[in-house]
Amino acid sequence: MSESGKSTIAVRYGIDADKHHGAVVPPLYLSTTYSFADFDTKRDYDYGRSGNPNRDILAQTLAQLEGAERGIITATGMAAVHLVTQLLNHDDTLVIPHDCYGGSYRLFTSLQKRGLLKLVVLDLTKAQSYEQILTIKPKLVWIETPSNPILRLTDIEAVAKVAKQAGALVAADNTFLSPALQNPIKLGADIVVHSTTKYINGHSDVVGGAVVAKTAELGEELAWWANNIGITGAPFDSYLTLRGLRTLNIRLKQHQENALVIAKYLEQSPYVSQVYYPGLESHPQHELAKKQQSGFGGMMSFDIKGGLKDSAAFLTSLKQFSLAESLGGVESLICHPATMTHAGMEPQARLEAGVGDTLIRISVGIEDVEDLVKDLEQAFAKVQPGSAHASDEGKAFKLTPAHTALW
Ligand SMILES: *Cc1c(COP(=O)(O)O)cnc(C)c1O
Repeated sequence: MSESGKSTIAVRYGIDADKHHGAVVPPLYLSTTYSFADFDTKRDYDYGRSGNPNRDILAQTLAQLEGAERGIITATGMAAVHLVTQLLNHDDTLVIPHDCYGGSYRLFTSLQKRGLLKLVVLDLTKAQSYEQILTIKPKLVWIETPSNPILRLTDIEAVAKVAKQAGALVAADNTFLSPALQNPIKLGADIVVHSTTKYINGHSDVVGGAVVAKTAELGEELAWWANNIGITGAPFDSYLTLRGLRTLNIRLKQHQENALVIAKYLEQSPYVSQVYYPGLESHPQHELAKKQQSGFGGMMSFDIKGGLKDSAAFLTSLKQFSLAESLGGVESLICHPATMTHAGMEPQARLEAGVGDTLIRISVGIEDVEDLVKDLEQAFAKVQPGSAHASDEGKAFKLTPAHTALW
């Protein structure tokens, strides 16, 4: 099966799972316990926390898609992140990127505060950090690329090479692109983490996570911990997530086709000061995106002209985009990171991360892209962001071209 293409794997893996009736869709196994075949003779499964057929089919499909030996399905994406930290002892160092997912950042720093691991925060988009990895000699290096919300890329192959020299394992959070568009293990990572809540399920109706391991040994250790701490996912969640995963590749094709049209539209708009999308030639890491990704994905951000009031007026004038956090569903979502996903940060730290009051993030859906563009157009026309009649309030937070210095 691993010789097959990604769409074939996603659509067909586990399709012959029902030996009893030949059901084409793998049946849902809700049973928490399984009878022994005979005294002291276990079957494949014994107890639902330890193993479940629906979870296993989903795990194996994801492992195949990532080019990995083993997959483990967890209840949430954060449970998947937490599971990987079980590999660390209190005197082991974890290197994380300064702009990783906020929930992951909170978890890593909380574990550090309790003395459960040592933590070093680096800007992995910069080659200067590579030297530091060699000196620190961490146990694990965490990568997340593209980053949220301004889509900065980390060179997975380069970081993995340095990490190997330092004797470290590499884990990559691949949530933003999914296995359809990026395979970190093929670039040198040992572990891939997913919030399956996003593109993998793709329909904004299941929260879940996955860890996939390059080797059987690492997979065994992680699976042992997942059962031990009890964070494995529910059967029905796995059933639904597998249904979503069946269409992953075709959804991603449409997501990114729409995203490129919207990015180009925004780039020429007089109401926009900067667009962040790796698929644009103007993106400082466009070449790296072409090298390590097989597509540019459906996530993008842009800075609207004006200030906070312009952002607010624009966001509430849209009809085809839902003002909501999260990403990766078939429907277009739009959010204001400064007051939503990144609200917990100090204004100055937010600015340093490129998250000003004018930053707007879009998870581009698979609707007719003409409708999405028309909707953006009417909202811009109505609000006229940055024009004289718009309020000056919030302009202190306005990001000037200085934000390109972040690269
Ligand atoms: C959403 C997300 C997570 C956390 O996943 P949950 O399913 O919400 O627990 C981790 N990493 C990234 C990049 C995410 O976008």
